[in-house]
Amino acid sequence: MLKKEPNQERIASLVRELLIELGEDPNREGLLKTPNRVAKAMTYLTQGYRQTPQEVLNGAVFESTANNMVIVRDIEIYSLCEHHLLPFYGRCHVGYIANGKVVGLSKVARIVDCFARRLQIQERLTEEIAHAIQEITGAEGVGVVMNCAHLCMMMRGVEKQNAITVTSSVLGSFREDAGVRAEFMSLVR
Ligand code: ZN
Repeated sequence: MLKKEPNQERIASLVRELLIELGEDPNREGLLKTPNRVAKAMTYLTQGYRQTPQEVLNGAVFESTANNMVIVRDIEIYSLCEHHLLPFYGRCHVGYIANGKVVGLSKVARIVDCFARRLQIQERLTEEIAHAIQEITGAEGVGVVMNCAHLCMMMRGVEKQNAITVTSSVLGSFREDAGVRAEFMSLVR
């Protein structure tokens, strides 16, 4: 895990070079502070590299005898595609059946952010969230569904403005038991 904070001056000077290469004048008023702003924004948007799910969880795992499906729906996702460094964004639904341990509900969203704030592809992001929930709770089953729009597809490339990419990752009973999976899918639809 990379823990070192990115060097802000170095990023800013690279952004300045980029602006020049794109034909811009980095000394014009509107762009003067842009390299520093981009450095700050990119550092924020990739802070997940410097976090672990355990850290963001901060001990919020509780004993529970309940054995029902818990679903956190409509968690907002903002991430960056690793191919173009352009945003993809949408919604994520996380469900699991506890096996003695549950996580604080707000922490599920924090775990999602921990992985979303890295350079990602949607498929891997979905899997990483599912595996983290599985590892943290020891759940008997986990399901994650994500619907995202990708700006790299909308602004360039195929320019499909309305295409939504849907990915899912199911583990344990969500994978093995069609009834459990169907219940989850119907609840997040
Ligand atoms: Zn892309």
